[in-house]
Amino acid sequence: MDSNAVVYPGDEVAIAEEYIPGNGTYEFNGKLFASVIGRIKIDGKERIISVIPFHNMESIPLNSIVYGAVDDVKQSTAGITVYFIEGRKEMLTGKYEGVIHISKVIHGYAKDFSLYIRIGDIIRASVIRLNPLELSIIDNGMGVLIGYCTKCRNIMERRDKVLYCKVCERSEFRKISDNYRDPVIF
Ligand SMILES: [Zn+2]
Repeated sequence: MDSNAVVYPGDEVAIAEEYIPGNGTYEFNGKLFASVIGRIKIDGKERIISVIPFHNMESIPLNSIVYGAVDDVKQSTAGITVYFIEGRKEMLTGKYEGVIHISKVIHGYAKDFSLYIRIGDIIRASVIRLNPLELSIIDNGMGVLIGYCTKCRNIMERRDKVLYCKVCERSEFRKISDNYRDPVIF
């Protein structure tokens, strides 16, 4: 594969003996494949092959898992700025705005967002629709990864099913991800 060649996800770009897999590639059965749509970049000195994603093609795949911050909460929708796709090594370069509908927070009926997510929280969510980008935190593992105290903005710690602020000595409810403050993710 030559530098600047256009590749699609799943295209074989090299054999593993030739190159070290860089960003936008993955290794499988001794071969390296593209994980994004973009152009091949070869670092001949370090023997690294990468795929530089097309900016406008760097869309977020349906059903992928993403990380973002809650930046707006209304009655039935919450606005999320998505920064990162799970499994990718780099931050998204564009600004991706998604929404979570109140029906995509828990199984069953949720009256409002205040028991599940709050402005400023960092969440892990799954992508259930594109254009517009719609997210869900219903599934296990999805929900709040970092919750900030609504009174003092301190990062809260998990105490069973609630988050607790040591400064204010009070608890708040959230839909908490199984990976709450998981250092593997951050
Ligand atoms: Zn507090």
